[in-house]
Amino acid sequence: MNKTASILGSTGSIGTQALEVCEKHDIRVTALAAHSSTDLLEQQARKFKPAYVGIYNEKKYVEMKERLADTDIKVFCGIEGLCEIAALPQSDIVLNSVVGMVGLLPTLTAINAGKDIALANKETLVAGGELVMSAAKEKGVRIYPVDSEHSAIFQCLQGNKRSQLSKVILTASGGPFFGKSYDELRSVSKADALNHPNWSMGNKITIDSATLMNKGLEFIEAKWLFDLNPKQIEIVVHRQSIVHSAVEYDDYSVIAQLGVPDMKIPIQYALLYPDRKPCPTWRLSLTDYGSLTFEKPDYETFRCLSAAVEAINRGGSYPCLVNSANEEAVRAFLHDEISFISIGEIVSSVLDSFEFSDIVCYEDVMRADTAARNYVREKIRANDYADSK
Ligand code: MG
Repeated sequence: MNKTASILGSTGSIGTQALEVCEKHDIRVTALAAHSSTDLLEQQARKFKPAYVGIYNEKKYVEMKERLADTDIKVFCGIEGLCEIAALPQSDIVLNSVVGMVGLLPTLTAINAGKDIALANKETLVAGGELVMSAAKEKGVRIYPVDSEHSAIFQCLQGNKRSQLSKVILTASGGPFFGKSYDELRSVSKADALNHPNWSMGNKITIDSATLMNKGLEFIEAKWLFDLNPKQIEIVVHRQSIVHSAVEYDDYSVIAQLGVPDMKIPIQYALLYPDRKPCPTWRLSLTDYGSLTFEKPDYETFRCLSAAVEAINRGGSYPCLVNSANEEAVRAFLHDEISFISIGEIVSSVLDSFEFSDIVCYEDVMRADTAARNYVREKIRANDYADSK
């Protein structure tokens, strides 16, 4: 029987590529959910004929219902709608590719309903890593990483003893500003920051890749997904984005996963695991690349990266705080309210501005999230970040 999947975030970059994979491999789509792109969501719904559709933006609910009035598709809305879709008994797997912290509750809901998860929403693990991993363990649910680096690590772990893993090597493309000095970053524009050399992605993650916050979030994500000590994770800048990550075992053997930089490969592995079938992408030709390079990241220039690593070393609510502060700062940058380097200044300032507090339940995560967002908004109001734009 064909696998069934619900796709949260279906109109985004990961969501649309996931649907290509579903189409290619006859994965039946039970439900689709999007933030607010009613046009594309309607097109997807008509093509894939899911039983349910969710629209996060409640203002678009009536419009979405009207658009699908001639079909049998049931329309849900808001965060409750996303959660309802996450828990549908008809789906074997839930792909969560929602952007940001808002993805956490649907992930927890899917886990509680016993659904396996293909996780593309890294904020889920950054903000609620402990909660999510312990809930998954309790429910016997598998979390398949969709992030290319974590998919690579997951692939490198197949067939080996987890207890003999000594460390993971998380590769980073370095983003569009690799090699630049802090001063050079002062004049970076929004267009520069949105222009990633290797990957085509949504706006939030593209900015996160330029600040290297994305690698910081992935560092935290790796810690939770693979139950690592932060000291076991090494970040290596690899400009070509061909080696998607590697693992080292106790015998110092290093196993890496390689492939072209196309998210459809990790998306497909998460959806078809453990099967490997031809992916709707192109083959890797190593000789086309000729040489692959590896360098150390610049933690001083890319302050978001060092802040994220420091946050997971401290633990408690710090990872959630830096993540939420980053979401607010990136939003402000995309709205031309602050400069590029202000993102790193704001995110790292969180570490000095909050006391340690524990995360034991979902409410603790939400409290830290609200506190960090208020802190950032206040800081932007109080400081003239626009000056350095
Ligand atoms: Mg990644």
